[in-house]
Amino acid sequence: MKVSIKTPTIHPIIVPTTSSLKTFNFYLVENEEKLFLVDAGVNTDECWHAFINTLKQTGRKMDEIDAIIITHNHADHIGLVNKIRSKMDIPLYAHQDAITRLKRETPFLQKRVHFFENLYKEMGCKEEASDQLERLKRSIEKNKHQIITGEINTLLDGDEIFGFRIIEVPGHAPDHIVLYHEGSGIMLVGDHIIEHSPSNALVELGKNGDRIRSLYLYEQSLQKLLQLRGTIAYSGHGAVIHNPHQVIENKLRRIERKAERIKRLLSYPKTAAAIAKRLYKERYIPLLPLVMSEVIGHLDRLELMGEVRIEQRDHVYYYKVD
Ligand SMILES: [Zn+2]
Repeated sequence: MKVSIKTPTIHPIIVPTTSSLKTFNFYLVENEEKLFLVDAGVNTDECWHAFINTLKQTGRKMDEIDAIIITHNHADHIGLVNKIRSKMDIPLYAHQDAITRLKRETPFLQKRVHFFENLYKEMGCKEEASDQLERLKRSIEKNKHQIITGEINTLLDGDEIFGFRIIEVPGHAPDHIVLYHEGSGIMLVGDHIIEHSPSNALVELGKNGDRIRSLYLYEQSLQKLLQLRGTIAYSGHGAVIHNPHQVIENKLRRIERKAERIKRLLSYPKTAAAIAKRLYKERYIPLLPLVMSEVIGHLDRLELMGEVRIEQRDHVYYYKVD
């Protein structure tokens, strides 16, 4: 395998936000005579100006950018893609599984609404989730402007691009990738690791119409990064991580601790919604998609580990420690 001798230069583009994410981060990267953008912020003037200023500071022009590579399909990582590509024809790269989501294909989005309708029913929060489901339905039309136009080149695990290796890390999103530079240990990690907050492993519809076991995959993806010799991790939000292995180990321990807490609640059968209410109390309704993702993720993980048993009554699932 080719190992780059020269260390890549990373130019962070950091845009503050009042949300708990703290900042939107994306990166101009120079390596092996190539200049490329990793992620593309949100579609705001702040992000646009920060991008243009950083480009100026590097002494480079937009037509010198060789590619845009996105770590995953979420709106806060692809915001400027269309705007940049409307001015300059720059190749776009994303994981193969991101395409359907980036193109916001209507049949897929409709299937996704149906998936969540079913899921919330099975998990015992059909009524509480009705607003969320309405929002999801409306977003199919409302977010059409977010459709990524033009050609998208696909990336897969192990691909090499501009001296970086692509590592698949499903969990936060099914199409999430990390860019890893072996020679220097530099990693561009998107939302796979965020120092100040848990990288919510979001429940998602899988390719075959099944539910992606997000937290189980996320845990495996964290372990996968521990096998690499990463020395510094550039995140999609918050601070640069100078001790990635330690941060990853902490996140793995947190998953274990949370799983123990959930198991203690399951001495008699409970729905995922009942657990979420118990754990999150008044935050349960306002944060419903996130907290349900978290609890369902844990229950799926415990099920795969053979630690919980499931009973079904009237199309609702009840979990109990085995
Ligand atoms: Zn993000």
